[in-house]
Amino acid sequence: MTPAEILTQLGPRFEQAKEAEGGLLFFTSTIVKHRDESGIEYEITLCPALQNKPHLPTPHFAQENKPLKFDPFLPPYDPNLHVGPLELRLDGSEEDYVVLLNKYSVVPQHFLLVTKEFRSQASPLLPPDLVQTYLLLAAARKARRNLFAFYNCGDNSGASQAHKHIQFIPLEDEDGPPIEYLARSVKLETADTPFALNLSYANHVYRFPDRFYSYSPEALEPVLAQAFLSLLDLVISTIRHDPEYPAGKPSYNVVITLEHMHLVPRRQETHVLAETGDQLSVNALAFAGMLLVKSERELEAVKTEGVGKILRAVGLESVHELQVQGTAAEARDVET
Ligand code: AMP
Repeated sequence: MTPAEILTQLGPRFEQAKEAEGGLLFFTSTIVKHRDESGIEYEITLCPALQNKPHLPTPHFAQENKPLKFDPFLPPYDPNLHVGPLELRLDGSEEDYVVLLNKYSVVPQHFLLVTKEFRSQASPLLPPDLVQTYLLLAAARKARRNLFAFYNCGDNSGASQAHKHIQFIPLEDEDGPPIEYLARSVKLETADTPFALNLSYANHVYRFPDRFYSYSPEALEPVLAQAFLSLLDLVISTIRHDPEYPAGKPSYNVVITLEHMHLVPRRQETHVLAETGDQLSVNALAFAGMLLVKSERELEAVKTEGVGKILRAVGLESVHELQVQGTAAEARDVET
């Protein structure tokens, strides 16, 4: 199927899956807007019904280069959730994918792009993953729909499935998730150079060229691959500045929109809320500006503690200034 065909199928498949016995569980929720000192208007989704969702323990990805005993992202697919296959053939790389609806949905039509073969969720996004993801975003734009993508990579990123899956959330707002307001407001002196948003936690952002959505898959590939690699380098460099970073493979979150790619290094999966002692699990969605809480009590605790403080606790300290100075020094070395 093409990305456009997948998108056409999403609505009807979602409605069928919701009705089917043993199909998709849709949890109703309310959205509360909350602006914090960073100026971002966070969308906090209050979803009490999630308290009934089965708790999935975090797999230890680093030890898993093969599927677990039960891998819901391998065939036979649940027919209620299966939307269709996607194949990507590029010069020198190819990968087959399957699109599945999220079985536990808070946002209607939340879907997953999973690799057909098992690949580890602790592995980085490869060029075909990036191109396939962006082609879905571009196809949505063409169909006058709004989507953004996210990827939770590694043990401490908030992921709960070990099989590589990139997630997509439909949005009402054509401007993208809340973080995009801040990303878009940054005036860049040099194109093609990663930058950082002035936030409480380390983050690395890359702005795509103008009208990137009109690029062919072959033209998307080098830009996306270069963007991801340069941001991943910065993530590793940020982690190296933290002497207490947990051992093992790095964890980070990725958010991809039509205009930007964001990478956020992670040091821990959950934050214990000071006011209630509840554990709040944090994944890429929170760094896109969309948090999920399961009770009014949690909602109040998040507002009191402050989103910035919570995200800083599960992320890392920004060393952006040091990194910029380092790059400038390297450039001087090359010139002399
Ligand atoms: P993460 O927790 O980031 O690893 O994302 C895993 C996603 O897969 C979540 O959105 C889950 O709700 C979803 N999920 C879990 N089990 C299934 C399943 N059997 N079929 C489809 N989606 C699932």
